[in-house]
Amino acid sequence: MPKRQLTLAGVFCLLPFLTLSAQELKLSKEPSSVAVPAVPKPSAVAGAYQAQYEEYYSALKLYSDAAFAAPQNSPEFMEASAAGKYIRARLDELGALLGRPAGSERTVFNPAAGKPGALSFKVSSELEDVFGFNSFTGPRAGDSRGVPIKAGYCQVNYVKNNVPFLVQYDGFLKKGEVIITFDDGPGPLTGEVSASMKEAGAQGVFFALGSKLNAAGRERAKAAAAAGQYVSVHGYDHATAAGKPFTALSKEETLRQLGGVRASITAATGKAPLFFRPPYGIISPDVLNAVSSDLGLTPVGWTIDTLDWSTRDPEALYQNTIKMIKQRGKGIVLMHDIHPQSRTALKQLLKWLAANGYKVVSPGRMTQAFKGE
Ligand SMILES: [Zn+2]
Repeated sequence: MPKRQLTLAGVFCLLPFLTLSAQELKLSKEPSSVAVPAVPKPSAVAGAYQAQYEEYYSALKLYSDAAFAAPQNSPEFMEASAAGKYIRARLDELGALLGRPAGSERTVFNPAAGKPGALSFKVSSELEDVFGFNSFTGPRAGDSRGVPIKAGYCQVNYVKNNVPFLVQYDGFLKKGEVIITFDDGPGPLTGEVSASMKEAGAQGVFFALGSKLNAAGRERAKAAAAAGQYVSVHGYDHATAAGKPFTALSKEETLRQLGGVRASITAATGKAPLFFRPPYGIISPDVLNAVSSDLGLTPVGWTIDTLDWSTRDPEALYQNTIKMIKQRGKGIVLMHDIHPQSRTALKQLLKWLAANGYKVVSPGRMTQAFKGE
């Protein structure tokens, strides 16, 4: 998703090599040869991407451990979860460039890239640029300030250097009731995920990205809606092309983009979307209020973040998820319909929920709670 940054980073990594290949071409030029474009050798390109991959993977480990060690929805958890989601997206992009099958993970570290779980200066600076969780911007008097959006349903808390996070409550759910949500699609796995939900007699929310609603994406959204799922608004990008949250955009630009995504979903599925979830859960109260009043979308956060970006192992994800659900007893569950591990773990999860007395309730309950019905 952070296309612009990746391209730039990729160009920098390729620069030394492009110079080299131009020299090689000159040296090897023979009278009979025709002009050959200087195409970088795949091995060198892969080497450059591989080095970046190591760095991001190392950071993924760090934030995964941090998220699992922190209480859900604590400032530390929010930071680790947002950073982890961002890093997972970068890894997926790099993995695609390296020709790795979706859902695969490298397991051997390049010693030059540091230890697993280490944060390189480059990745740390990039995260600071994207989220600004740690840069000192003066006294943190506003930290921990909470702005009510809808009493008992959600509010926005300023945490981690005044970054505004949407905090969701699930007091409107009874014990044993869960709502299941999926972010960042539609993608090639969305059909299987929505079919699993339908098979279990469950309706969930699929928070879609407008940038993925090309012809194939619109078909996927349409199929999910036909399977009884709620296709709703996440963003056009996630939330900017560089992977920055909505706080990087003006209110007008945010509304313009979200209005466009809402229209695309309506055109693709034949149903107007009901819900909105900001990428990373980061959005200012002012913009969030405008999204619900101007676009008529109910804000949705989560109360159980499965951290499904943190592992490629569906069994580990399934075990982590049922542990979280047992602990809380109910909740709004966040997963991603773009990860193979999530697609696979969901099937086990739905069986486990049914076998253990849990009920996947209609997402319409959130609209009722938000409107105070
Ligand atoms: Zn997302």
